[in-house]
Amino acid sequence: MRTTKIEWTDKTWNPITGCTKISAGCLNCYAECMARRLQAMGQSKYKNGFSVTLHESVLDEPKRWRAPHTIFVCSMSDLFHSAVPFAFIDRVMATITATPQHHYQLLTKRADRMAEYFAAHAVPSNAWVGVTVEAQATKSRIGILRGIPAPIRFLSCEPLIEDLGELDLSGIDWVIVGGESGKSGRLMKGEWALSIERQANQHGSAFFFKQWGAWGADGVKRSKHSNGKLLGGRVRQATPQRATLFN
Ligand code: SF4
Repeated sequence: MRTTKIEWTDKTWNPITGCTKISAGCLNCYAECMARRLQAMGQSKYKNGFSVTLHESVLDEPKRWRAPHTIFVCSMSDLFHSAVPFAFIDRVMATITATPQHHYQLLTKRADRMAEYFAAHAVPSNAWVGVTVEAQATKSRIGILRGIPAPIRFLSCEPLIEDLGELDLSGIDWVIVGGESGKSGRLMKGEWALSIERQANQHGSAFFFKQWGAWGADGVKRSKHSNGKLLGGRVRQATPQRATLFN
């Protein structure tokens, strides 16, 4: 059963919380906003606000989930942040390896550090590795990702804040695209998303359009819910496991 609103996953698991901004996509970071809100509500896990914090107490949490899930690791942080010791990442990987009933999605903006880690450690067979590519300046992350031997490699182009132009998607299994939500959400144009879809199709990568976000297909600002997730009149939400388009 899905327990998160993030449409491309079932569950989130947060053995680390907190982060620092690293690229343009971080400007209106949802995790920062949520962490500060939970801190203000007195939630002990967020007593440090958005400072990087390791949570040993939840390292074993997925072992209690008997049914298979697709799990997004560190939705409230970045697993490969420089403040997270490799020894702690080892413990995250140990849980992943010990729970083969699940699939884990490891998404980072710190592609270099992820590559450094996996140069010395094998990617668990049930882990998917991905990088965020929200703007032209971050496209170099794709080449770094391609160099990591992994069962599934994916891109999250969210929030998509400009046309990415030509992409080399060879070796990339899945591409997620979404516009930015929230009152400060930045505009995404449909032609940018369709260009990525066209290139994903050329390379045989599954394409998943998550949402428009704050700005609709017509360029009008309104609620994320009202703007919906139709791209060119269709839901386009293929996954590497379920490479199906729902018309
Ligand atoms: S890397 Fe992710 S969690 Fe960290 S500041 Fe940027 S958007 Fe937020």
